[in-house]
Amino acid sequence: MAEDCIFCSIASRAAPAHILWEDEHTMAFLDIFPLSRGHTLVIPKRHIDRLTELPPAQYGAMLGAVSEMCRRIEQLTVNYNVGINQGAIAGQIVFHLHFHIIPRYREGEAFPRRRLPLDPADAAELSRMLSNGGGRAPPREGTAPPKG
Ligand SMILES: [Zn+2]
Repeated sequence: MAEDCIFCSIASRAAPAHILWEDEHTMAFLDIFPLSRGHTLVIPKRHIDRLTELPPAQYGAMLGAVSEMCRRIEQLTVNYNVGINQGAIAGQIVFHLHFHIIPRYREGEAFPRRRLPLDPADAAELSRMLSNGGGRAPPREGTAPPKG
C-alpha cells in the first residue's frame, strides 16, 4: 500500500467508496466525479502506477473484473468506453492503475467539461443495481437515460 494513495485507502477499506465488486486481486467502485451516470473504476488492490507494472499472473483477474463490470454496466446501456489514462499529460489523476468504464447514453454527447460530484441517492441506486451481478443477460435494446 502506498501512503497518500486514495485508491489504496479504498482497497483497504480505510476510505469510503461505493464498492461494486471485489475479489482477491481487484476491486470496482463508482467514480466520485462521474463523467456519466454509472462511471465505474476497476483497480488492482496492490498499488501499481501503470498497466506495464501489472504482474502477468494478474492479467486474468484484472481483465475478468473489467469484463464483469462491463456486463453489469450493460444494465444501464450497451454503449460505454473502457480506457486507461497513463501519465499526467494523458489525464491520469490518481497514480494507481485504474480502468475507467464510462457509460454513453446519447449519440454525439460529449463528456462534461466540469465533473459534478456523485449524487448520493443515485449512487445508492447504482450500487444496488451494479453490485448484484444481475447484468448477465441484459436486454440488448433500449438504455436507461441519465438522471437529472
Ligand atoms: Zn495505490
